[in-house]
Amino acid sequence: MQITTLRAFADNYIFMLSGDAGPETAAVDPGDAEPVFRYLQTSGRPLTAILNTHHHRDHTGGNRALLERFPGIAVFGGAGDRGRIPGQTHFLVEGEEFSVCGARARVLAVPGHTKAHIAYYFSADGGGHLFSGDTVFGGTIGNLFEETPGVMFQSIQKIRRLPPETKIWCSHEYTLQYVRESAGIDPGNKRLALRLRKLEATDPSGAPTVPLTLEEERATNPFFRWDDPALAGRLGKDPGIDVFLRLCEIT
Ligand code: ZN
Ligand code: FE
Repeated sequence: MQITTLRAFADNYIFMLSGDAGPETAAVDPGDAEPVFRYLQTSGRPLTAILNTHHHRDHTGGNRALLERFPGIAVFGGAGDRGRIPGQTHFLVEGEEFSVCGARARVLAVPGHTKAHIAYYFSADGGGHLFSGDTVFGGTIGNLFEETPGVMFQSIQKIRRLPPETKIWCSHEYTLQYVRESAGIDPGNKRLALRLRKLEATDPSGAPTVPLTLEEERATNPFFRWDDPALAGRLGKDPGIDVFLRLCEIT
């Protein structure tokens, strides 16, 4: 399976998945149909599926126009998003698996940003791929619009248990802004300071920082470091959920 990154709006990403053997092509979170149409025209491929992580318009706003051009294609989304994702045909729950673009996707329920938010995990040699929508960003996590910090903590724990070499394809380019903010929260973290220096040395209009790697988020994203004694001490908490909850308060 090949993955191509498209930009949309100010800072959204749309990911195009294409099968190695056939013409199968899927769009992950097509908030805008136009970049998808351009990609399909250039590549000469048909669209055969849409994978939505959650119902927000910047992730689903292109569904209708894509379905008009490609009627009857599968539209995957969380079971709890029934009625909120345009054209949804598949209502997925935790642990469910399905085939798309010649690969096997496993569904992770990751409520937090929204109640019904899901992520798609594709295992692969040398590191699988996680399409995580607005759950994780470089250096931070998504806003908690429909759930409590405690629920998001469960979801982040679930993601942290994936293999460290997992590539994380998140839906927004926020990395520089939040790695900078995180460096202020966790100033003793040398790996985080190094990450910030590298980002600041890079042309801000340049290449995407996505995919992230789980290994780097585990080492530098405070929300993945609730059990780090130094960070906990700095926040005046015991290592564990209290660190995560405190981070939700101060960011
Ligand atoms: Zn969202
Ligand atoms: Fe979003």
